[in-house]
This record gives sequence, C-alpha cells and structure tokens, in this order.
Amino acid sequence: MGVNRGFESWNRPYLFQQLEDIMRGFSDSERRDVISLGIGDPDIATPIPIREAMAAEHLNRYHGYPSVEGRRELREALARYYEERFHVGADPTHFLIGPGAKTDLFDLPAVFSNPGDSALILDPAYPVYCDSCSFRGLRIHFLSGTYENAYLPPIPPSAEADPSVALIFICYPNNPTGAIANHEYLDRMIEFALDRHAVIIHDIAYADFTPGNKPSQGFSIFTRPGSDRCAIEVGSFSKPFSMTGDRIGWVYIRNSDLRAAWRRYRSNRDSGVSDFDQAGAVAALKDPAVKPIVQANMEVYGRRAELLEKGLTSLHLRPSGLANTPYAWFRSPIPDSRRATEIFLKEARVLVTPGAGFGPGGEGFLRATIFQPEASISEAISRLKQLSCFEPER
Ligand code: PLP
Repeated sequence: MGVNRGFESWNRPYLFQQLEDIMRGFSDSERRDVISLGIGDPDIATPIPIREAMAAEHLNRYHGYPSVEGRRELREALARYYEERFHVGADPTHFLIGPGAKTDLFDLPAVFSNPGDSALILDPAYPVYCDSCSFRGLRIHFLSGTYENAYLPPIPPSAEADPSVALIFICYPNNPTGAIANHEYLDRMIEFALDRHAVIIHDIAYADFTPGNKPSQGFSIFTRPGSDRCAIEVGSFSKPFSMTGDRIGWVYIRNSDLRAAWRRYRSNRDSGVSDFDQAGAVAALKDPAVKPIVQANMEVYGRRAELLEKGLTSLHLRPSGLANTPYAWFRSPIPDSRRATEIFLKEARVLVTPGAGFGPGGEGFLRATIFQPEASISEAISRLKQLSCFEPER
C-alpha cells in the first residue's frame, strides 16, 4: 500500500495533537473556560448585506454547475477593486474564482512544479505552502526570516541558488509575523524569479485586514515591473468580510500560459465555486452598505488589538504584527514555543499558537489572535500574568 511519503514531513498534526490531548484531559467546565487566541477565524459575523445576497441567490434561481473561472460580474468587480485599491489596471478575464485561498495555494504547486524541483518558501509563514510542496516531493529551501532582518530574509544571489527552484512562496502582510515587504525587496525577488524561470506565488489574504482602520500596507505584486511574466497572486474574501465559512477566493494570473495551465487544472479538479457564494462576494465588493459595516468591525478589532498589544507589552513580550493582521506575534517566555503553548493552556487555560508551527524561523515566538471580545482578551492577559514563567523581574 502506498501512502504519499510527503506526509512524513508534516509536523502540524503532531503539533496540534498535543494541544488537543491536553484539552481532552480537561473537565467540561475547564474546556469551556479556555480562551482561544489560537485559530485565525473572525468571530464577528458576515455582514448582513452579504448574507442577504447569498440567500436571495439561493432562493430565487435554480443553479446548475457554476463556471470554472467564476462569474463575469465577480471578475469585473475584482478588476475594479484592483484598480481602486492597488492602482493597477486589471483584466477581468485574468481572475479565476476559487474555493478559498487555502485550496488554491495547496494546489498551485501541482501545476507549476515537477518532481525533482525545489521551492523557496518564506519562513515563518502559513504552513500550507510548505506542506503542499513537501507533499509533492519538492525540496524546500527556507527564506529565513528573523526578528532581526524584519522578516525580509536575504534572497540568495541567483547564481548561487539551487538551479531547480521552480516556485517561490511569499505572503505580505504576513501570517504570522505581520511583516510587509518594500518595493526594492519585491523587485529583487522578481528579478531572481525571472532569472531562474521560477513562479512567485504571492498570498494577499490579509491585504484588507486593517484593525483600527489604519491604512493597509498590503499591496499587489502586479504593481511591480516584471511581475506579469512570473507572478501569481492569491486573494481571499475570508478575513476582511468574515467569509471563512463560505470558501471563496481568487487567483490572479496575467501570464497567459500560466493562466491556461491553471484553468485546465481547475476544470478537472472542481466545478467552480457555488453561485450563491459568488453572489456574496459580489456584494462584498460592490454593495455600498458593506463598507461601513466592515469599517465598524475593524474599529472593534482595532480596540482589541490595542488591548492585546498593551497586555503583551506589559509582559515584556514585544508584540508586533497587529497593524496589518489579526495576529500578535511575540516572544515566547521560554525558547521552546510548543512547551510555552502547553504551559499557557494547562496552567492559564489560554490557547495560543506555537511559532514553531509556522516553520523553523517561528521557534521562540508565539501567535495570538484578536478574535475574542475585549473582556476575554483582558482576562487572558491577567491569567498569563499569574504564570511563573513571567517573573516580575523579567
Ligand atoms: N493565506 C493565509 C496567509 C492565511 O493565513 C489563511 C488562513 O488563515 C489563508 C490563506 C486561507 O484563506 P481562505 O479562507 O480563503 O482559504
């Protein structure tokens, strides 16, 4: 019996298994008492106009299979969004609507790499990039981000790099660190990709997640010269619009050969995204009633971000990341982030995510979300203050 050997390199199930095992040992009331600052799933509900658009679409029309690329209306709305948001001209036919960024990110290596290739992956980062590449037998080279290099790791000189690099995964604003790249950095990355005939996959799932409505530093890679030839951008409706349950995102590809290959793959993999989800996404981008609701939600997230930042700072943990993402990225009080997570859960019943789960560069750090009410965030900080790993003299 053959099971894909790529699974052997996945350590996430093990990582979260440990936390689940601890939770299983809790009584019902202890379990209810856990404050989860773990998973990045917005707790404020999807704006009503989006839900109404989805419901109306469902009730008023019979739907067969949707189109693989997605509705023209949604692709046009995305093109307008790119023009207004990123000031880049966009052709609606260059977008393929997909069933959530995660699914597409996991599958892109299937289309844009071959056995024996390798991938350059930003570290720390969303684990799906690495898992997908290792699952497909690609060799992985980490672009090693550190607190000291502001998570903009050195790009290897092209001549010295592994000649088999076929894929480069980047994500700005970054989950988990909140880091953002500058133009010069991106231009060097694009130059490297063109030189090596590699494809850059840029994940912008957090481009519009702006706690406190501070101006987002998110950007489209297509603002940079040369990107047309080598870049693929993946976006999501999940976080800014609280649409994680709806499973809808997009892949934007300007290069016609790359786009044709992705379209061909998609036409075999799935049959498009449900029309009612697409109607919800159209409302998210076009219904004028949605924007003030999202802004009000971001005000709430902004207050929570301030509270969490203050609390973690009072524990001397130097949090960062909350300007551009729903995540605080902060120093673990002990070097082993898995162990710290266990202590937080067992002794304070506060659930955070160990940095090691985001790659080797995440070790020594922890991630906490703002997807809990202010009272729970305050309570989580008070509980952490009681832990012996936070000695007063620290
Ligand atoms: N990209 C990043 C960086 C994420 O953190 C997440 C989810 O947490 C996703 C993509 C997944 O987005 P979607 O809900 O569209 O699958």
